[in-house]
Amino acid sequence: MLASDCTRCPLSATRTQVVFGTGDPDADLMFVGEAPGRDEDLQGVPFVGRSGQLLDRLLAEEVGIARDAVYIANVVKCRPPENRDPGPDEIAACRPYLEEQVELVAPKVVVTLGNFATKLLLGTDRGITKVRGSTYPMGATQLVPTFHPAAALRGGGVVLAQMRADLVRAKALIGLAT
Ligand code: URA
Repeated sequence: MLASDCTRCPLSATRTQVVFGTGDPDADLMFVGEAPGRDEDLQGVPFVGRSGQLLDRLLAEEVGIARDAVYIANVVKCRPPENRDPGPDEIAACRPYLEEQVELVAPKVVVTLGNFATKLLLGTDRGITKVRGSTYPMGATQLVPTFHPAAALRGGGVVLAQMRADLVRAKALIGLAT
């Protein structure tokens, strides 16, 4: 079955379309967010709303690359109604798609944005505030957890500064001069 026709979980009934992923499938750097929001559900592309605009800016300012040079995906590919948190069953149903994306892109670095992506890919119950600031090997890929851009939009300067520091570390890990 094509991912675009997926009916593995109830989010398929309320979505406009599946938001699978975007960017360079050969990228050294991959980002994993939580779930599509309203703008993403309408456009079919991850991180095109306010969080995405901040992500684009941080990518340009701290890594020095544009979004089409990275690969961007989410833990769940369909918008949860009213932007509620994705449920455990929805995350489990969608998990094979994300695992396949990580395997195919085989990036040097995966940056997980926020708790949902971090807990899933790191296999931990610990929150993002506790685990960020370190790098975690995941086979040949290094995992760099950071905040979700929505947290920086809400939380302001300190969160944003920590996200910037995490992206500078990711930049070094993919071999770009910092
Ligand atoms: N937030 C996410 O986690 N993913 C998106 O694609 C947009 C906003």
